[in-house]
Amino acid sequence: MNIVIFGPPGAGKGTQSNFIVKKFNLHQLSTGELLRKEINDKTNLGKKISSIINSGNLVSDNIVNGLIEKYISNKIYKSRLIFDGYPRNLNQANNLDNLLKKYDQTIGVVLKLSVSLETIKKRILERKTQEKRVDDDEEIAIKRYQTYEKNINPVINFYKQTNLLNVVNGETSISKISDEISQLIEGIKGWLWEIRQYKYARNKNSLIYGPYCRNKYSTK
Ligand code: AMP
Repeated sequence: MNIVIFGPPGAGKGTQSNFIVKKFNLHQLSTGELLRKEINDKTNLGKKISSIINSGNLVSDNIVNGLIEKYISNKIYKSRLIFDGYPRNLNQANNLDNLLKKYDQTIGVVLKLSVSLETIKKRILERKTQEKRVDDDEEIAIKRYQTYEKNINPVINFYKQTNLLNVVNGETSISKISDEISQLIEGIKGWLWEIRQYKYARNKNSLIYGPYCRNKYSTK
């Protein structure tokens, strides 16, 4: 299944995406990483976007929308993507919805990591010493947090309407957050499995069991 994970910079999206990738055999699609790679490789796109990223603003929708279609359309990743840091605004959420429809896919779960600005500042400064990211500086971090807050509410409402949104407390330990996310995904996986069984049983005109009938030996 495809998963969307979002949260402010420093919320732990990358760490938790890595964990989900390994545990559920998915592929991480981080737009931030794709964009940083363009900058490191000194491509034309990289030169164009480096000042935007370094100032804590969002890169234009056209650029990021263009980057993700390549992955969604690739059969190797079909229904195995975890979108890390995308969508970041309503236009991107609509674009993702349209692209997934175009390639006959859906989203299984949306995870929102909630973390306060104080914790973000602390984590970003720690990460700066480990990863040496140019946009990990307190002032830029605050700007990135504000940019996130300014754009994300319509995305939250978008996924609330589809009943896909799950808010995860990102203030606790990495392992506690991973456990909570695991349980959520396992729950969805189980539910999807039940739906499949239910459809299968109906098609076969045999025993009906599934989400609407907890006892699988019942015929009602
Ligand atoms: P991240 O690694 O997700 O924190 O992203 C780092 C930076 O890349 C952001 O501050 C934005 O400048 C840019 N970026 C990443 N993802 C997106 C996106 N979906 N839309 C626009 N800009 C993005």
